[in-house]
Amino acid sequence: MSDVSLDKSVDKRRTFAIISHPDAGKTTITEQLLLFGGIIRQAGTVKAKKSGNFAKSDWMEIEKKRGISVTSSVMQFDYAGKRINILDTPGHEDFSEDTYRTLMAVDSAVMVIDAAKGIEPQTKKLFKICKMRGIPIFTFMNKLDRDSRDPMELISQLEDVLGIEGYPMNWPIGSGKVLRGLYDRYNKRVELYRPEDKDNPYLPLDDDGNLTTDNEITEDSVYQDAKESMDLITEAGNPFDIDKIKRGDQTPVFFGSALVNFGVQTFLDAYLKFAPAPNVHETQDDEIVKPDDEEFSGFVFKIQANMNPRHRDRIAFVRVCSGKFSRGMDVTLERNQKSLRLSNVTEFMANTRENVQNAVAGDIIGLYDTGNFQIGDTIYTGKKNINFKKLPQFTPELFVKVSAKNVMKQKSFHKGINQLVQEGAVQLYTAYTTGDYILGAVGQLQFEVFQFRMQNEYNSEVVMETMGHKTARWINPDQLDEKMSSSRNILVKDVHDEPLFLFENAFAERWFKDKYPDVELTSKL
Ligand code: GDP
Repeated sequence: MSDVSLDKSVDKRRTFAIISHPDAGKTTITEQLLLFGGIIRQAGTVKAKKSGNFAKSDWMEIEKKRGISVTSSVMQFDYAGKRINILDTPGHEDFSEDTYRTLMAVDSAVMVIDAAKGIEPQTKKLFKICKMRGIPIFTFMNKLDRDSRDPMELISQLEDVLGIEGYPMNWPIGSGKVLRGLYDRYNKRVELYRPEDKDNPYLPLDDDGNLTTDNEITEDSVYQDAKESMDLITEAGNPFDIDKIKRGDQTPVFFGSALVNFGVQTFLDAYLKFAPAPNVHETQDDEIVKPDDEEFSGFVFKIQANMNPRHRDRIAFVRVCSGKFSRGMDVTLERNQKSLRLSNVTEFMANTRENVQNAVAGDIIGLYDTGNFQIGDTIYTGKKNINFKKLPQFTPELFVKVSAKNVMKQKSFHKGINQLVQEGAVQLYTAYTTGDYILGAVGQLQFEVFQFRMQNEYNSEVVMETMGHKTARWINPDQLDEKMSSSRNILVKDVHDEPLFLFENAFAERWFKDKYPDVELTSKL
């Protein structure tokens, strides 16, 4: 049964992540969005936190005052009648499987690209996950205030490198020192770049795409070039296709500069028009859970361990998939059918008090956890069992050999490893020949968190021996011959006893494929 008021609240939610390569401008654009939401009054706040310019306690004070969540993993604000949840996808040295799993909890993604650099490796990795989920992806080509690449080249790179059609919603009129503005075919206007004069920067266009008023810009060759390109694209480019956008086969592309706040609001307004409201979720029994179903349900997509040794608590991040959350509600944890009362819960709330206790499908809540939850867990209310589809496994890229420092403490070592692996903190492999334990991760931070938590939560000091980057490829067990293994392709098995090779590099993989052309090698995501 669906509830009309719930339906309305759910419909207002827009839950997304920003994917980008480090330094493309994710933090800067997030900050601009928070400014539009009235959450922060001064640009530079999120940045200051990131660069550590604030002492931690100062930052907590600032967060409290401005009402930003303590962790900034989820930022929620209201804008233009919508409730927006931005989920952070940590990059740099914080890159981890959590970064990937966060993408399981969003309904769309915003891809920020440095227009001078084009598509960079981390963007490509994150894009792949979004593409696999088939969620809509919106592109913001950033840093127009600097000399940028040819916009035509940036659009074709989307197709060539990522395999997604680009549909330019607007087109830059120059870049860097000659940035004049945006030729905005979607809004039928030219948006002038006048940093010193922000009032009404818009000049309307007629149906043929010509300015309706006289303006000296028409004499400018930079403008003429942009208009020509836009005309060409309108004639010969991909037509706007909302169904393709919904499936993630076409991406609307916007240009601008987050730093000087140019084109960001234009982007946000159009984004909100086309970005989807909370989606349905499938269970392991292939049943569909709708966001406006009355019973509450959600899944844990991330567990953040508290790095402070005096507090052993953790926060489990839950994407609400259906219904409404209310403080103190009892839910069933599907994995063990235990009933739990959700009393100690953080909502990543914005600026107003009335919003509290108002989380519905689409929102993210943070549960203070003393060890009840694992990544991927489903919680729900009501009699009907709900178990959402498993979160995918990702292909690790970094590996370490791990052992207990004190051989007398094997018991706590095994207990710790088993729990942390189950929780999804790292991946565990066992070498076929030596029986060595090998951990795999997508980012170095995962190993550090693992080591820290083993010591702090399980009182087990571990020794880690770096193995570096490897290419993990699973092999069909029927084709496996242990003689295929060598020091350049180490044979291991995963926690499901499935065999895989860890290749030293791409060259070693190619060499293997040449030698054993019939052997099938596969990767996870
Ligand atoms: P992140 O690593 O993706 O979060 O990137 P940041 O937002 O921290 O930006 C990285 C650097 O690029 C910072 O020095 C920003 O000031 C700068 N930056 C971000 N957006 C722009 C932009 O639109 N123009 C220019 N010139 N610099 C920008």
